[in-house]
Amino acid sequence: MKIGVVQERAPNEKRVALLPEALTRLKASGVEALVEKGAGQAASVPDAAYVEAGAEIVGRDELYNGADVVLCVQRPAAEDLRRLRQGQVLIGLLQPLLDPAAMAALAKAGVTAISLDALPRTLSRAQSMDALSSQANVGGYRAVLIAAAAYGRYFPLLTTAAGTARPANVLVLGVGVAGLQAIATARRLGALVKAYDVRAATKEQTESLGAQFITLRSVADATGEGGYAREMTADERAAQQQELNGHIATMDVVITTAQVPGRRPPLLVTADAVGNMKPGSVIVDMAASALGGNVELSKPDETVVTDNGVTILAPTNLPATMPAGASQFYARNLANFVAHFLKDGALSLDFAEEITAATVITHDGKVVQEATRKLLEPAKAEAAAAEVAR
Ligand code: NAD
Repeated sequence: MKIGVVQERAPNEKRVALLPEALTRLKASGVEALVEKGAGQAASVPDAAYVEAGAEIVGRDELYNGADVVLCVQRPAAEDLRRLRQGQVLIGLLQPLLDPAAMAALAKAGVTAISLDALPRTLSRAQSMDALSSQANVGGYRAVLIAAAAYGRYFPLLTTAAGTARPANVLVLGVGVAGLQAIATARRLGALVKAYDVRAATKEQTESLGAQFITLRSVADATGEGGYAREMTADERAAQQQELNGHIATMDVVITTAQVPGRRPPLLVTADAVGNMKPGSVIVDMAASALGGNVELSKPDETVVTDNGVTILAPTNLPATMPAGASQFYARNLANFVAHFLKDGALSLDFAEEITAATVITHDGKVVQEATRKLLEPAKAEAAAAEVAR
C-alpha cells in the first residue's frame, strides 16, 4: 500500500500531514510513501528529510495517481478532490459537516473519505489520535503570544530602576482544550489570569493552573453531552452577556475560545462591553469564522482597532502560524490514526468498531456517516442550516 502526503494549498496553511519521523513509523508497518515535492517546506521540513526517511518525492499528478491513501491536513480544494478515483482513500481534517456536498461527490467517485475531526474524543484509546485537541492546544498557546505581542505593556509584574510595571489582567472565556492552554501560557508569562466557562468541571481545572474562576450568578451549569457545552436559551445568553460585561471592562487582555458543537459560537463580548474597555486593551477571538465568533466586533483574519483604542484580533487558523510544532503533533495523531486501520500492510475497515464507525464518512459509493448523511437529506439540511444560522 502506498500512502501519499500532499502539499497543503489552502491560503496561509503551512502545516504538513506527516513528518519524516511519523512516516518512518508507518513504513515499519510495511507501507510505502510518496510525498509531494515541497510538502514540508513551510513547516521547515526539506524534501531531503523525507527521502532519508524512505519516501519518494513526486509531483502532484504522480501523487494523486500513485497513492492508495492520500493524507492531508485540510480538505483539498474541489479541483484536487476531483483527481481522486474509485478505491482511493482520503484521510485528514475533512470537516464533512461544513461541506456535505463535497462528501457526496467523493462517495459518488467511489472514494473512501475518513475524517479525523469526527473522532470520538472521549474514548481513551482515541486520545493519541485526537488532532482537534492537539491543534487546539497549539491555538491556545499562540493566542496568548499574539495577544502579548499586540499589547503595548508587559504581561508580568516587573520591578526595575525605572519603576514598576503592573501585571496584565487576562480573561480567558471558554475553558476547553484551547482555553486551558491559554490560561497556562498567560500564567507562564506572569499575567494575572481569570477564566470563565459554562461547564462546572472547568472551575477546578482553572484553579489547578493558578487562575481565578469567575462564577456568574445568572447562569447555572450548561454542561452538555460528551464533555461539551449545551446551547443556552436566549434568556440565559442575555443574562450571561450582561454579567460578563462588568468583568470584561476591567481586563487588559481577553481571549475567547467558546464553542458549542454544530452551533454558531456564543456571543460573549458585545460591542457595549468593548466600549467600556481601556485604550490599549487586546481581544483575541479564537472562535471567529464566517459563522460569527465570540466577539461582536471581530472580523475573521482581520485586525480591528475600535474608536476607544481596543485591538481585536480574530485569527482563524492559529495552528498554522506555528507550522513545525503543530505538524509534529498532527503527524503523530495521523500516524496513530492510520495505524489503527492497518492490517497486514493494508487498510481494513471494521464498521462494528467505534472509531471506524464514527470517522469513515464515505465508502463503497455511499455517504455512510449518519451526521453527514442527515445533512444531505433536503429537509434536514434546511433545518440544520437554520440552526447554525441562529
Ligand atoms: P470546544 O472547542 O467545543 O469549546 C471550548 C469551550 O467553550 C468548552 O469548554 C465549552 O464549555 C465552552 N463554552 C461553550 N459555550 C460557552 C459559553 N456560552 N460561555 C462560556 N464558555 C462556553 O471544546 P473542546 O476544547 O473541544 O473540549 C470540550 C470538552 O471535551 C472538554 O471537556 C475537554 O476536556 C473534553 N475533551 C475530552 C477528551 C477526552 O476525554 N479524551 C478529549 C478532548 C476533549
